[in-house]
Amino acid sequence: MGLMENHWKFRVVRKWQPFKRAERCYLLVDINGDAIEAVATERNAQHMIDLLEINQCYSIRKYICTNKRYMMHTVEHEASIMLAKYTQAVPIDKDNIPTYHFNFLPYDLLHTRTNTKDLLTDYIGCLVAIKPSDDADEENRRDFLTLKNDSNKSVRVTLWPEIRKTFDQSVVENTDAPVVVAITSTKVGNLILDGDMQLSSTPATAVFVNPPIPELLDLKKRYRQLNYPAPAITSVTTYPTMTVAEAMDLFNNQTTRQQVECVATIKDIIAGENKAWYYKSCNLCKNKAFKIEATTSTKGKEITASKDFYRCATHEVVNRYILRYCASVILKDATGNTTATFFDEPMAALLGESCEEMMKKEGYPTAKKCPTTFRKLIGVQKKFRIQQHHEENRQLHTCVICRVSDPTTATTTIEIPATGLLPQTPDKQSKKRGYPDTTGTDTPPMKETKN
Ligand SMILES: [Zn+2]
Repeated sequence: MGLMENHWKFRVVRKWQPFKRAERCYLLVDINGDAIEAVATERNAQHMIDLLEINQCYSIRKYICTNKRYMMHTVEHEASIMLAKYTQAVPIDKDNIPTYHFNFLPYDLLHTRTNTKDLLTDYIGCLVAIKPSDDADEENRRDFLTLKNDSNKSVRVTLWPEIRKTFDQSVVENTDAPVVVAITSTKVGNLILDGDMQLSSTPATAVFVNPPIPELLDLKKRYRQLNYPAPAITSVTTYPTMTVAEAMDLFNNQTTRQQVECVATIKDIIAGENKAWYYKSCNLCKNKAFKIEATTSTKGKEITASKDFYRCATHEVVNRYILRYCASVILKDATGNTTATFFDEPMAALLGESCEEMMKKEGYPTAKKCPTTFRKLIGVQKKFRIQQHHEENRQLHTCVICRVSDPTTATTTIEIPATGLLPQTPDKQSKKRGYPDTTGTDTPPMKETKN
């Protein structure tokens, strides 16, 4: 420990940037194949960040030897290296320093690393499937890789977007089966889905197709004997692009669950008077919440008037509601216009604040008054992914907005699952049909929610 004055020679085998931190981490391997982590902060060691390249070898001196990072370290080394302002390093030719470092954990030991924030896990297996998540756009989607080991046990690896983007699928497509994949520095999940163990990527994760390890040929042979197939690659879901007139033509003339994308402008907001723009939803789901009358008895439990209780179509008693958006807007392009219902997630994504946050800011405006915040939506041009209003009493020229993104490039948006999209149709006592009844006096929610 302490300042190391002597020269030390190593190869950079990996580098990464921890989430939201102005530093770079490196995995360094020496001539013996031993690996150690090194950290350079932008403040103190920008010269090292500029210098160190992956796969290159260096001779270094005047670096600090310190304890390993306290969590999520990639190798089992008690120490780590801190690169300092005065650290000196020069590139060298050293062909005999290993070009990789892995510490694969066998399938049967994966369970020992669940829920730990300690050592990250390297894993190797035969890639049999790549499936994109269908709940996000191209920018934000995850990929799920299925790896089988040599006793036919499957592991599902979630590649989060920043790592997924570094993984070139075309390499897999151009590789003969069986495709061996090594994946480094993952977290082991505690959920077992369909019998598969779960791993997920971290900022330190790297994915190697047919990694350059001595066991590669043996593994391939074993996987071949097991008849593991070439990876099944599911392509990303795409949505047809239509004009507003074409989309309305589709929705008005046939019953469909198809989602289509239209580039359109928000021409107006329909809020106030007879159109509510928010609703009280159940605390536990997105269904409309109904106040339970003080005298109501539920399952023998007397509900007293001292506190308001609510119920939804799914949950019998909840002790609070959450305010959610359900505003109607007019979408317009050169071909026509339509009324579209903006439910909670896409509206919150577009406004950058939840319904409860916005209402608190505006002092809890009533449902009859259009909030000032909505005014900034008028004239906004976006790519709207829309779907037919799947209520039985749906009217012509209406639809539901499922997602909003930038017309030219993908942006961060939030997807609504296809099911549970709409609040339940209000029951018969409710005066309004199709829209939750949110008129009348409203008490502020009992406490802040983060949703
Ligand atoms: Zn509910």
